[in-house]
Amino acid sequence: MNKAFMKLNFCSLSSGSSGNCYYLGNDFHGILIDAGISATSIRKFLKNMDISMQTIMGVLITHNHIDHIRGLELLTRKNSLPAFTTHKIWKSILTPQKKISPDCIREIPLKQKFHLAGFDIEAFKVCHDAPETIGFHICAGDQKITIVTDLGHICKTASRYIKAANLLVIESNYDEQMLVNGKYPHYLKERIQSDHGHLGNHQTSAFLADIISDNLSNICLAHLSKNNNSPEIVLQTLHQTFSERGIILNGQQRISILNRNTPTDIISLIE
Ligand SMILES: [Zn+2]
Ligand SMILES: [Zn+2]
Repeated sequence: MNKAFMKLNFCSLSSGSSGNCYYLGNDFHGILIDAGISATSIRKFLKNMDISMQTIMGVLITHNHIDHIRGLELLTRKNSLPAFTTHKIWKSILTPQKKISPDCIREIPLKQKFHLAGFDIEAFKVCHDAPETIGFHICAGDQKITIVTDLGHICKTASRYIKAANLLVIESNYDEQMLVNGKYPHYLKERIQSDHGHLGNHQTSAFLADIISDNLSNICLAHLSKNNNSPEIVLQTLHQTFSERGIILNGQQRISILNRNTPTDIISLIE
């Protein structure tokens, strides 16, 4: 196969507070980003998409919240899969209850490229209420993918990595009105809305309206709240914001809402 025209596939296996796991790869190798659903579900979903577990070279971990690491222990143990995250995040993950084989633990630096499965990957900090939370910027040939699933505020660094992306996975966690009027206790509403919580639909839409360019061909809206959001409201908010700002998508640009509990259609790019 001519490597210059190799297809690069992205797929979300699950996205939201019940569990996050994303796949990026080509015919030869791939990686997972987060392992927040059971290892059994990860293997099953990949098999259903004809993606061999043998091609998975590692899993990148964004932070220690359970919806991002639920399947990590079994996945690393049963598949001898290396897992990559920062020293500080490893410290927050490894507890007497959560044992990961030392052979599978890989520490990565912040804002320094490392190489895995043919990809150049950089991790960068985002604002979220875990001991440390990171986003990933992944370069595969000409394609650049940025993944930021949990963040309460988009700082300058994150913004720089997001602007460089052709494919962006960004959260649109809650509808502001639904959260305010909903049943969550006051402290939880405050936590979610804070700079270290999650991004609301209006926040994400306004940010996207600020940064959208022709380079950004795929926007995947991720980590939707079960109780305070719906795919319809996310899309409605985004389209309304774009229309108010006079932004018209160029025909090649695609917006996807990532499913909470099931895999989303594969997005194929040319590497
Ligand atoms: Zn999360
Ligand atoms: Zn989180």
